[in-house]
Amino acid sequence: MTFSLNDPDLFRQTAFLGGDWKASTSGKSLTVDNPSTGEIIGSIPACTAEETRAAIESARIAQGKWRRSSAAERAGLLMAWYQLMLDNADDLAKIMTLEQGKPLAEAKGEVAYAASFLKWFAAEAEHVQGSALVPTADRRVIILKEPVGVTAAITPWNFPLAMITRKCAPALAAGCSMVIKPSELTPYSALALAVLAERAGLPRGLLSVVTGYAQEIGPELTASPVVRKLSFTGSTKVGSLLMRQSADTIKKLSLELGGNAPLIVFDDADLSVAVSGTMLSKFRNAGQTCVCANRVYVQSGIHDAFLEKLAAEVMTLKTGDGFDPQTQIGPLINEAAVAKVKEHVEDALAKGARIVGKPLDINGRFASPVLLADVTSEMRIAQEETFGPILPVFRFDNEQDAVQQANATPFGLASYFFTNDIARGWRVGEALDFGMVGLNTGSISLVSAPFGGVKQSGLGREGGALGLEEFLEVKSFHIGLP
Ligand code: ADP
Repeated sequence: MTFSLNDPDLFRQTAFLGGDWKASTSGKSLTVDNPSTGEIIGSIPACTAEETRAAIESARIAQGKWRRSSAAERAGLLMAWYQLMLDNADDLAKIMTLEQGKPLAEAKGEVAYAASFLKWFAAEAEHVQGSALVPTADRRVIILKEPVGVTAAITPWNFPLAMITRKCAPALAAGCSMVIKPSELTPYSALALAVLAERAGLPRGLLSVVTGYAQEIGPELTASPVVRKLSFTGSTKVGSLLMRQSADTIKKLSLELGGNAPLIVFDDADLSVAVSGTMLSKFRNAGQTCVCANRVYVQSGIHDAFLEKLAAEVMTLKTGDGFDPQTQIGPLINEAAVAKVKEHVEDALAKGARIVGKPLDINGRFASPVLLADVTSEMRIAQEETFGPILPVFRFDNEQDAVQQANATPFGLASYFFTNDIARGWRVGEALDFGMVGLNTGSISLVSAPFGGVKQSGLGREGGALGLEEFLEVKSFHIGLP
């Protein structure tokens, strides 16, 4: 038995529209499956464009009041919601593992991480500050920070809770409202979160969760003149489409898009630190995160020792159902993800790479971890984000080459490197053209640190103090002195 909740009321198969839990007037629904077994978990309403518009209208009305609430009141709501997430952490984790597949321990980690945004932005709500200019003879000028207004979020399936709280917590803290379209692959986590928001005292209409087809809901969110900002996490292809669709209404945009993260191991690195950092960065969520190391560059002097130690670690990874406590690598999200992994491995082998340890084993949506050596830049795996448990190792000789190869991508989200040379640490850290750099660590996600990319990895930052700024407008208030 894998699925029984302490509180079955958290599992909703209706959408949360303007404060009401409803099926769609379309009468249509989509099914959601468990990627581990392929079994149907349930269905969700296929909401229409009209229903999306109505949710936006509810958000507009609710925001009119919310923007005038005190920061302390907003913080209070977020803290109550935070506490409810912690109180219901086991159920939230189970729902996530069921629909997303990640190991239950990772799901619990994500619940805590997702909740941390509610707490962080509860505190930030009370720290918003404007300023006043030095007086002139004829006027005083005050710079006010005001909420952007009605906002929208479109979120992915790989972090079904955290990618939502990272957006809606700063939105609510700033005094905005939000209409959320979660991934159709993982809607139940989003809906459970909304149940808890309601219990925390969320004002009616301030937040909606519109479920259904992206092609129906997305254009309504982007075309709406009422929606002043869109925050999106997902692929660069869809991000670029949303940017085009948002052009007519000149929407503010936060885009957290694809990456192709390099990880460089220099000869002078601490071998154990480099291996554990690589494991951490590569295999979280079965390699399905936008900050997973996708290309591992290893200097010649440490190459063989690194590969040997890494292979030993990779061999210990256990692939299986996320509810099995032994599992470290869950299933991939769908068949397309499995096919991509297979193609990347086959392409690399055909172009001269070799497997260290066990070959790729595919069973349904499970793909076993694979360590590839002798990988070169001509291979597809070097160019594209694999989003699976494949670890390709490239060999290099000099620092400049490694940095040049690491930067040779249109993406610029996360990067990692391992060295004990302090001068090299600065030099390489500054030379890497990425929004986030990890030195001697495989972890770059933290509630208090800005998260985001450069180049085609996106616009804006989430988390940290900047995460709140993204939901604030600046108003220059000139007061004349007659
Ligand atoms: P991934 O490749 O990680 O699945 P996507 O960019 O396809 O990323 O999906 C991320 C989110 O964007 C999901 O909520 C998905 O439903 C949504 N999405 C996909 N296509 C569109 C679209 N044309 N318009 C609006 N949202 C979309």
